Parts: sequence; C-alpha cells; structure tokens
Amino acid sequence: MRETTKNYALALHGGAGAVPGRDYAAVEEHLRELAGACEAQLADGRCSLDVVELAVAELERSGLYVAGRGSAPNTAGYVELDASIMAGTSREAGAIAALSGFVSPVKVARDVMEKTPHVLLVGTGAAKFARDNHCEEVKDPDNYYQLPVGVTEDDIDNKAHGTVGAVALDLSGALSAATSTGGTFGKLEGRVGDTPLIGPGTWADDDIALSCTGTGEHIIRAGGAIAIACRYKSGVALSVAIEEMLTEVMRLGGDAGVIAVTRNAEIATLYNSDGMKRASVSTLATLNVATFELTLNG
Ligand code: ASP
Repeated sequence: MRETTKNYALALHGGAGAVPGRDYAAVEEHLRELAGACEAQLADGRCSLDVVELAVAELERSGLYVAGRGSAPNTAGYVELDASIMAGTSREAGAIAALSGFVSPVKVARDVMEKTPHVLLVGTGAAKFARDNHCEEVKDPDNYYQLPVGVTEDDIDNKAHGTVGAVALDLSGALSAATSTGGTFGKLEGRVGDTPLIGPGTWADDDIALSCTGTGEHIIRAGGAIAIACRYKSGVALSVAIEEMLTEVMRLGGDAGVIAVTRNAEIATLYNSDGMKRASVSTLATLNVATFELTLNG
C-alpha cells in the first residue's frame, strides 16, 4: 500500500501534436495562467473532479488547442468531438464520442457520469442527451470554430492532431482525470480515438490519474492509460511504467504523450512525440510550463 500525504498536485496537457519551430508562447502563457488558477482551487480544498473538469472546459473554450473551439471538421465537413472524465475514488466515469454541436464536451461527459447509469454515449444519442440537459450549444459553427495555435491550413491534410487533458490530486487524497479532443484533422466521419475511452485515454483510481494524447489508434492498441496504471500499481516506477507504454505506441507506428499524478503527489509529463504542451504544479514542485525540452522556468 502506497503512503498518502496531505498534498495536492496538478498536470495539464494541450496535446502531443506540437511541431518543432512553431511558436507556442500564447499556449504556454494560457497553460501557466490556468495551472495557477487550478492550483488556487486545489489549495482551497476544491475536489479534484471539479478542478479537472473546469481546467478541460477552459482548454476547450479557448480555441488554442485541438479540442472544443479549436477542432476541425471531419471528411464529411462537420466537427465531431470526444471527451471523458473519471473520479478515482468512486471509479465513476462518463464519456461522449462523435458529439456535434456543443461548447464543452467534458461537461457533457460529466453529465453522462452523474445523470445516467452509462459510461459512454455517442453521436446523435449523445447530442440529444446534451440538449435535454441544457448543455451550451454552438450557435454558429461556421464562425465558432477556429484553427488552434501551431496548426496551419496545410496541416489539415497531414492528419494534424491534438487533445487537452487534466489530472489532479486534491487535499483529501482523491485523484481525477479528464481528456477532450477534436481528434485527428481529416478524420473519417464517426472516427473515435482513445480520448473518450475509459482505460486507454483517461484513467483514475485510488493510486494514479492519467490522461493520454497522441495518435489514438496506436494508444488504444498499446493499452494507453490503464496499461500504465496496472504497471504502476504492481510496483513499477511511474516514469518506467509510462515509458513502456510510450515505447509500445512507437513500436506500433505512432507517438504519444502522457500526464500523470499519483496519490503521493508525484507528477510525470512524458512524451515521445516531438513535443507536448504541458504545465504542472504541486505542493512539492513549483509551476513548470513547457512544450519542448526547455521549460519557461529553466
Ligand atoms: N488522441 C487523440 C485522438 O486520437 C489525438 C491527440 O491526442 O492528439 O483522437
């Protein structure tokens, strides 16, 4: 049994699709501010489930990332979004996939968790549920969606991708995780990646909370977050557990990134893509914000 300390910890990611040489200063500033706001909430005693939801909702709303407002249409010409959220203590979870027309997919996912006996709703059923629960709708899709930071029109045919995620440990020792994505640019209508899948894309239990980003098809086939959690819970060091999953993703032909926090307030933000937009902070570690190897804090 691992020891619990009275700490909080937080990690955010803005996706593992970062391209070397592009300017992510606006993203890093946004992550810095958001991590600071989330830290204040955790220090105040707010539960980790609320904090990961509000973090991901802000990442979706900003339009800076490939999630929520920064998402691009599928090959049929419309936006379909995926999201999931999980509470580690109760193992309750909610998710939506291929959802169109709503501002905050993670909010809909939390409603699925709290208002239905189900874990995952998809497509038109998910949209009907979101409407029935008065989730905010995108009124003018043509003017709402925008290209996120670091993505150009040329990238759209190159299967650019991105995701946002948050993992947190609160002062009561509860761990939570949430992830949201626009998926891969130019994806087929109905395509669903790892993000809304409880297990591969998002996982939280009593020991660890994880959110994945990267090429979803490879993450699913490598096991993703739950594969890391199983390794970690059997005694493998956190960084080794993550690296083993990332190595498997690469062996299968993809690349990915992972953020994790543990009940001991240990944080890991690791990737084998070119970069991963990320921020982390805890009672044991000062705020760190980075996209590639160099951090803003040195
Ligand atoms: N994992 C996401 C997906 O495949 C994309 C990403 O994280 O960049 O939908």
